[in-house]
Amino acid sequence: MSRDVDVVVVGGRVAGASTAMLLARQGHRVLALDRAALPSDTVSTHALLRSGVLQLRRWGLLDRVVDAGTPPVRAVTLGFGDQRVSIEIRLENGIDFLMAPRRVLLDRILLDAAIDSGVVFRGSTRVVDLIQDRRGSVHGVLFEGEDGAVEPVTAHMVVGADGVWSRTAALVEAVTHKSHRPTNAVHYAYYRGVPADGFWFQFTPGVNAGIIPTNDGLCCVFAGRERSRLADFKVDPEAEFEHLLGIGGSDLLSAGREGRRVTPFRGTPGLPGFIRRPWGKGWALVGDAGYTKDPISAHGISDALRDAELCARAVDAALADPRDAEGALRAYEEQRNTLSSRMFSESAALASYRWDAEEASARMRVISDTVRDECAFLESLPAWGPVLSVA
Ligand SMILES: Cc1cc2nc3c(=O)[nH]c(=O)nc-3n(C[C@H](O)[C@H](O)[C@H](O)COP(=O)(O)OP(=O)(O)OC[C@H]3O[C@@H](n4cnc5c(N)ncnc54)[C@H](O)[C@@H]3O)c2cc1C
Repeated sequence: MSRDVDVVVVGGRVAGASTAMLLARQGHRVLALDRAALPSDTVSTHALLRSGVLQLRRWGLLDRVVDAGTPPVRAVTLGFGDQRVSIEIRLENGIDFLMAPRRVLLDRILLDAAIDSGVVFRGSTRVVDLIQDRRGSVHGVLFEGEDGAVEPVTAHMVVGADGVWSRTAALVEAVTHKSHRPTNAVHYAYYRGVPADGFWFQFTPGVNAGIIPTNDGLCCVFAGRERSRLADFKVDPEAEFEHLLGIGGSDLLSAGREGRRVTPFRGTPGLPGFIRRPWGKGWALVGDAGYTKDPISAHGISDALRDAELCARAVDAALADPRDAEGALRAYEEQRNTLSSRMFSESAALASYRWDAEEASARMRVISDTVRDECAFLESLPAWGPVLSVA
């Protein structure tokens, strides 16, 4: 049956733009829609771990992020209570630095690459409903543009990359396999003049704080604590933020004090965590829409870049052989779950703040092993057409 496009992708940030780009590079007709006027910033710090940097390199986009002035991060300080562990980023998987591009920059580069690959993108366009038949199979979306008019577009597949509060997931009633309630309230702001020798992630009982160097000579300074203590922040944000940095350590507080805050605080009172079934007849979920973990592990963007490729490969296979669509999408789910389950549970445990410094250190070691396995997996993927050229 003919359709207006092959794939509609709902959401045009890291998961959506990447999935759309990869599918368009395979020759599919892709329409991507985002209710926001992109490019724009979003509430998120933006440390990329090795797997995220690796994906950008595999897709030929790493140079664009570096050339835009994103500083390479060659060291990570992990603080556990009074202890400081310095880690040098060694050359592995062809990567010898990490990075933290501002979201407005990273999301723009991914979206531009999608559009260059042939994706048709419409910003300020909200998906309000799905076109579904009586059995629940999805055949397209209804979207509302800036003029308020609601229009249909039909597609062989709809990919929901619409984030933690995914409308797509709600409309298909995606089943949730694992979940936890919000526990970690995080705030951050950008500072000029903070001395930073790479990433600093500090875990002191009751507080997770740190420093993330980014573009324009700025550092993102963040601090999180149990959600139940959020009220203190509302009374005097500046004082409470300093208080949290101080709990992190006097060295962290003085690093913060050396700088000057140049933006308001932003943050979240806490995010739910979940792993959902990411597919059904005519639909798939990718990024936070299908799998959200607490940001304490700084891994949501890297996961979105990883899963964009797993999802795009599965959707590509489903479009090529609709009789085995279910097999391809099921394999996507299984692979994503295998790669994500440790990260999900370690993030949830850290976000609960029920740990001492020793336990936090052990959990971060598991996270580090998980990223190593994930990178090995990504490097083992077979080449996929012209997509995976190395920058
Ligand atoms: C405080 C905080 C700090 C974080 N820090 C880090 C970090 O340091 N490192 C890291 O890797 N991750 C971090 N994360 C997690 C990271 O932000 C997410 O995992 C990542 O943004 C997920 O990308 P996504 O593309 O799936 O979703 P999103 O970035 O949320 O994008 C979803 C898009 O869908 C659009 N959309 C939603 N509904 C509709 C609709 N109905 N119609 C059309 N469009 C729609 C939205 O406008 C949005 O643009 C942090 C998150 C938070 C909140």
